[in-house]
Amino acid sequence: MQYRFCPQCGAPLEVLPLSGRERHACVQSECGFVHWNNPLPVLAAVVEYEGKLLLARNAAWPHKMFALVTGFLERDETPEFGVARELKEETNLDTEAVSLIGVYEFMRKNELIIAYHVKAYGNIALSEELAEYKLVAPEDMRIWSAGTGFAVADWLQSRGYPVRFFDRQTGEDIPDPRRPSDFSVLRASLQYPV
Ligand SMILES: [Zn+2]
Repeated sequence: MQYRFCPQCGAPLEVLPLSGRERHACVQSECGFVHWNNPLPVLAAVVEYEGKLLLARNAAWPHKMFALVTGFLERDETPEFGVARELKEETNLDTEAVSLIGVYEFMRKNELIIAYHVKAYGNIALSEELAEYKLVAPEDMRIWSAGTGFAVADWLQSRGYPVRFFDRQTGEDIPDPRRPSDFSVLRASLQYPV
């Protein structure tokens, strides 16, 4: 998301180098607004229900594309509560237990994914946001190569299940795309005087 005008004073924003990057900032001396454009946290649930994993298809998505239940964290809400609330709102399922799987990038949408394993019970009833769902046995799971998919992969791996990624376009299996972070770029770019 980009602002053209300052949301505080209405002046046009300009591009300025601030804290090592180009930022859209307000140059009115009394204002000082900077659009930092930091990623927004998103909650994602690897839902375990009756021994299977629940995948859902958003009504706005192309046909056959299933993924995790996700949603934004609300103000004044813990992430654990937030993921349970999202699950209740979108599927009517109740949460028995949540445990953190990990935190993942989703740079394409400038979001940060906080992924939980959620043990759920109850009767499934989808909200209007979701078009359909499916329940997949963990050993049959095929994983998409993106932020929420990496969370599924990490959870499956932690439980000793096979980790199989596939290409959403072709439907074919692909090699595991997860890579360890390379911090050498950071080491080279940040030089402090000694
Ligand atoms: Zn301003």
